[in-house]
Amino acid sequence: MPLNRKVAIIDLTTGDIEIKPIPLEMRRKYIGGRALDAYLLYNHMKPGADPLGPDNVVVVSGGLLTGCLASGVSRTHVCAKSPLTGGFGSCNGGGFFSAELAYAGFHHLVIKGKAKKPVYLYVHNGKIEIRDGSNVWGTTVHDCQKIIRKELGDEEVKVLCIGQGGENLVRFANVMTGLKNSGGRTGMGAVMGSKNLKAIAARGTMDIKIAHPQEALEFNKGFVKLITSAKVNQTMGKIGTGFIWGATNSWGGVRVRNFQLNQLEDSETVEAEYLDEISEKTIGPNHMSACYGCQVHCRPRYRIPEGWPYAGEYDEGPEYTSQGAFAGEPGIPIGEVVLVANHMVNMWGLDTLETGSIISWAMELYEKGILTLEDTGGLDLRFGNYEALFEMIRRIAFREGLGDILAEGGRRAAEKIGKDSAKYLIDVKGMQNLHSDERATPALALNIAVSSRGADHLRGRPAIDLYKLPEPVLRKIYSTPIPYNGPLSSDYRDYQGKAWQVVWHEHCFMGVDAVGICKYHTTFLGATLPNFPDWSKAIYYNTGLEMTPEEIWYVAERGYNLERLFNLREGWTEKDDWLPDRYFDEPCALGAPGVRGRKIDREKFKKIRDEYYQHRGWDENGVPTPETLKRLGLDNEPSHIL
Ligand code: SF4
Repeated sequence: MPLNRKVAIIDLTTGDIEIKPIPLEMRRKYIGGRALDAYLLYNHMKPGADPLGPDNVVVVSGGLLTGCLASGVSRTHVCAKSPLTGGFGSCNGGGFFSAELAYAGFHHLVIKGKAKKPVYLYVHNGKIEIRDGSNVWGTTVHDCQKIIRKELGDEEVKVLCIGQGGENLVRFANVMTGLKNSGGRTGMGAVMGSKNLKAIAARGTMDIKIAHPQEALEFNKGFVKLITSAKVNQTMGKIGTGFIWGATNSWGGVRVRNFQLNQLEDSETVEAEYLDEISEKTIGPNHMSACYGCQVHCRPRYRIPEGWPYAGEYDEGPEYTSQGAFAGEPGIPIGEVVLVANHMVNMWGLDTLETGSIISWAMELYEKGILTLEDTGGLDLRFGNYEALFEMIRRIAFREGLGDILAEGGRRAAEKIGKDSAKYLIDVKGMQNLHSDERATPALALNIAVSSRGADHLRGRPAIDLYKLPEPVLRKIYSTPIPYNGPLSSDYRDYQGKAWQVVWHEHCFMGVDAVGICKYHTTFLGATLPNFPDWSKAIYYNTGLEMTPEEIWYVAERGYNLERLFNLREGWTEKDDWLPDRYFDEPCALGAPGVRGRKIDREKFKKIRDEYYQHRGWDENGVPTPETLKRLGLDNEPSHIL
């Protein structure tokens, strides 16, 4: 049964491993995945722990339905205190790892302490071994996985690992699995590196008994039909998520030259269609691949074209985030540059968004004379110089010269660089923004300001706000499963009703993260895709657990509030729920008529942020009230049940 998958508490300092069942009451309260991870981290980590010290705790998980009869149940979640932001660190990636972990008997691994020398964990059919990792320390993400599979003598082993970025404690290093499945954002790779933990290998052949297999199969057929019939997924299945960047650029919603412009001109070769031609030429007609149990196949595969660094080497992606990070932000309208840079960050395990953003910030500092040729070690770090971009990615991964400073993340780097450098940093809570420009879209701007892990598009992005959906359609979406009678507006420039939209999407995303389903399978880019009622059925058919859509909503709310409690405990305040000054002071210079000239209004923004707090049951300082904690059963946390 999926419900009998266990949690293991692993102490790398002592070598002790404790394996526990997950009580049903905890499933009912948290379901699994990210929501239960929030509970485990809040309970197991000492408040104020050094993120790169042995007191930090890494939690690795799959969702409740991982490996079951449901589409897109491929997601792996990793959380710990973030070395980048100092708050709740969290990342979520696709691939095959979490399904293998579930087949090996586990849904959650709680990893504490620090190993004396490099190690990796081997999780195999109910058992966990701590193995010597000296021979994989110093290897790329790609090589590490090959070596471990060879050493274990099993090509079916799935590996979650870090590259040199994580070993070198780059504060935005990723956890990776496969060639490009990235647990990006917030530096979970650096936390693994700080524990001398290079990798976790999983291999399982244990049954996952489905509670109602016939019904689960039938239901999943409809689920898949719904997902694969959505235009957005059909497009992703042909050319990948890269089309999102092109569409956003077309109306002026991307960040260019750090945050000076909002549209990249002459960028045809950055478009997904051009990158798709390279995939077709270098791989062949079947160049799209998928994660575990998914029919969307949104992942392009490619080899780097002749004439470029790493020519002929194989990789996967890029996602729309890499087009933003390596074309838009540094002002380099060349598709091949995106492919090379994507390969570099994948090999060394760096977060694509943070890497591209911080280099683009450094480029602006260089052009403004805040950084000199001496500071850059002779690198001409102007916008558009792709050779400087490649070299700076390498220097960050291996912490050389200015790269060593940038590897510390924007806020620490700004302290070292001094002068006016912090003014040009585009971040929230110490994490740099997605490549998108939210000045014309207050809902999307609110989403990144209040997100529980810093500027983030995957915490609660009401992207369907851009579709001008009729009010009754909006009302139906935003009243499921909890009735909502307040204002709603289908004008993306409006401030009305946007606070509730953000809350709704935050719960929707926490819900899929608890169940373990990919966000492209829910109300994110597609308005007709499944959400709470569908998960209720999938959970019942697969596990036998009866949970109403409303109960799943409250699981999501509970998880989100625990992340908030974690952040408040680590010292964040309502001042952190805010945007960089450029959002308020500098209007969009380019783009469609509805976008050009727009910026965020400080007063109106403060008002919707306050409305957001009210919807959440938080006081004016953004602190959950005692009534809210009691209503959600969080008034006795940390409760140490697990
Ligand atoms: S939609 Fe794409 S990212 Fe999501 S599970 Fe499917 S292949 Fe993976």
